Amino acid sequence: MQNLGSNNNNNKHNHKNRKTKKSASAKLFLIAVLILLSAFLAVVCYALASKDDNKTPSDTPEENQTTSSSTGESTTKPQTTASATSIPETTASVTTTAKTPSAPGIVKIDSDNWELTLVNTKYRLPDGFVPEKLLTVVNDCRLDSRVVPHYIDMYNAALNDGAKLTPFSGYRSYEVQERNYNNKINYYRGLGYDKTEAAVKAATVIMPPGSSEHNLGFAMDIVTCDTWFETTTEFTWLRENAYKYGFIMRYAKEKTDTTGVIYEPWHWRYVGVKAATDIYQTRDANGVEICLEEYLEIN
Ligand SMILES: [Zn+2]
Repeated sequence: MQNLGSNNNNNKHNHKNRKTKKSASAKLFLIAVLILLSAFLAVVCYALASKDDNKTPSDTPEENQTTSSSTGESTTKPQTTASATSIPETTASVTTTAKTPSAPGIVKIDSDNWELTLVNTKYRLPDGFVPEKLLTVVNDCRLDSRVVPHYIDMYNAALNDGAKLTPFSGYRSYEVQERNYNNKINYYRGLGYDKTEAAVKAATVIMPPGSSEHNLGFAMDIVTCDTWFETTTEFTWLRENAYKYGFIMRYAKEKTDTTGVIYEPWHWRYVGVKAATDIYQTRDANGVEICLEEYLEIN
């Protein structure tokens, strides 16, 4: 029993020694961990500091790129990059390319080729533009005085064939266009789009002021402003005969990417008999009638 007791004492002593050694090891381990932790924190701090240093040079070329691509479209002031950074990157790149309604070139009307004047979201009329002379077609529906005789000729020819090309909407003032456009922007903002996105979306439905052929006085919406028009005998007649009087269907469904405007079978634009005939007879690679933008590029 004593032996056993003395063994017990020895065991206790040994155990105490082991305990002391163990606690010393634990302390060493703790110190090692603290050193490693400090080293790790130092590395993290250094990395963060380096990142801040790199931020300026890597962001600057992007900002310059955005600005130069915008100014490439036009000489007018591009949209600020501040608004671009508040929207997702993909949308930002869209708004700085062709469809930006705030960066169009200003149209100059060539008096020798006035009928080929191109206005769209890239080329707009000067602020407050008013045509030199407007003439009434019917009621309060007016067109540029040079276009009216051609519309009346076309109207009478269609009537002889049993189609009634009732004028629905002709010349629209810059101010009315501005009001309609702003109303459409507010509509899209109400759906949750931010300011830039709402402006881009609105421009595909209502042209920004100065970007509409209705501001120019060369275009007539016939009978209605609704796609059911394409099912009428009036539409069929126009598709077959309008070019003979110098009119083209301006916004085809296959050309929305080029014109920047939705399909509008009711919108007919005067370009003169020669251009209208050329456009009517020229097909793109897909067999589709070319649009005014394409015609002007090849002529
Ligand atoms: Zn129209």
